[in-house]
Amino acid sequence: MSAAAGSAGDKVWSPEFVHILAKPAGAICNLGCAYCYYLDKEALYPGDRFRMSDDVVEAYIRQTIAMHRTPEVSIAWQGGEPTLMGVGFFRKVMALEKQNQRPGQSILNSIQTNGTLLTDEWCEFLAENDFLVGISIDGPQPLHDAYRVDKRGGGSFDKVMKGLRLLQKHGVKHNILTTVNRVTGDYPLEIYRFHRDELNADWIQFIPIVERVDPSGHPDDMGGENVSDRSVRAEQFGEFLATVFDEWVRNDVGSVFVQTFEAAVANWAGMPSSGLCVFDETCGRGVALEHNGDLYSCDHYVDPGFRLGNITETPIGELVVTERQHEFGMAKRDSLPDYCRNCDVLFACRGECPKNRFITTPDGEPGLNYLCAGYMSFFRHIDRPMRLLVDLIRSGRPADGVMRMLNAEDASLAAAVRDAGRNDPCPCGGGRKTKHCHGAARQARNEMPLSIEPSAPRPRVV
Ligand code: SF4
Ligand code: SF4
Repeated sequence: MSAAAGSAGDKVWSPEFVHILAKPAGAICNLGCAYCYYLDKEALYPGDRFRMSDDVVEAYIRQTIAMHRTPEVSIAWQGGEPTLMGVGFFRKVMALEKQNQRPGQSILNSIQTNGTLLTDEWCEFLAENDFLVGISIDGPQPLHDAYRVDKRGGGSFDKVMKGLRLLQKHGVKHNILTTVNRVTGDYPLEIYRFHRDELNADWIQFIPIVERVDPSGHPDDMGGENVSDRSVRAEQFGEFLATVFDEWVRNDVGSVFVQTFEAAVANWAGMPSSGLCVFDETCGRGVALEHNGDLYSCDHYVDPGFRLGNITETPIGELVVTERQHEFGMAKRDSLPDYCRNCDVLFACRGECPKNRFITTPDGEPGLNYLCAGYMSFFRHIDRPMRLLVDLIRSGRPADGVMRMLNAEDASLAAAVRDAGRNDPCPCGGGRKTKHCHGAARQARNEMPLSIEPSAPRPRVV
């Protein structure tokens, strides 16, 4: 991917939308999650206080509102941990938004938080100002606490749950972000059902942890050739998604939204965008704003080679339409290896995020996605239910009809398997003997452990 310098002002493309993720406290966080590559970004600004100044926040709000051509303006806050800025900072933001808002415009604020610093005062503020809050929870306590630890290595589950209950008490809109790592990757149903049944979640995002390391095992998110032992395995991630999908598509269509599945529906329906950059053909429409006004090509490329400029010197609207950012976005499509170009699920996968393309294809071409094996099996696994879903939507019938169809099919297959001899061809039509296919005794799933030793917090890299 080219990171050649480009001068602001050389407008070469005009993206229909640009999403800006602002990090008011930079990479600073009160937790020390073992897998968090954001924490390493502190090293980019040695000696900095990591607090967005009044000048930068004023420029961010004014420029973001001015560049929006749509009636709805999206303002997004992330970290590190953005609540470290305190409610007072965000009250100033609300005042700035009111000053700059044009007639007919509505502004939607969203914030991604670990939830541990939320209080009644915070939640009253978030409810009053209609924030959408993303809260990071990795599942039930032993799974969550495996890696989501504080600076002393203690689990953060209890504090996060307290924050979530406060959000719910105050009626704050929220969704759940869950990382799929080497530990949580083995417990898809436990995690999904916990979110759905215990947390009453109706919107869930699953993020694979792929943590690149150098030969000595140190994190190196731009050049490492191996992954840490915290990283999810590719096949494990595919199995995780497929297992959650099977539960969702038979029980929860229309009542629980899983971001990966929503994007898949969009791609199976042939929509112009999946709504999720990793599954779109090109990228470049999501930029990251650091606390000091530096703008980067993407939140996953906060690195000097991908710094577009500083918004106090050049407006965001000019920085995002440069040749350099255009090239960054097109490289996602143009750098695909032939293996991907000839793949039957390319339309759904798109080679996923370039950040994860660091392995070689079976014929030795570099640039294959580390998660390829998982995505290939997952997307193939969901092909038929996706076609059923999209047919329902296209014919104007409710999408949740897919649940009745699949449950009825499951029931009749189970009856046919019961009637079949063990050595007969399996009634599913897969070509194997029944005893080796749907007639095989189900393997017991791993019991979720009652406790897992929390890992050490991530050390500072400064
Ligand atoms: S680099 Fe990855 S995360 Fe960034 S916009 Fe592209 S696909 Fe999305
Ligand atoms: S499944 Fe693998 S080969 Fe197919 S598009 Fe995705 S990364 Fe490429």
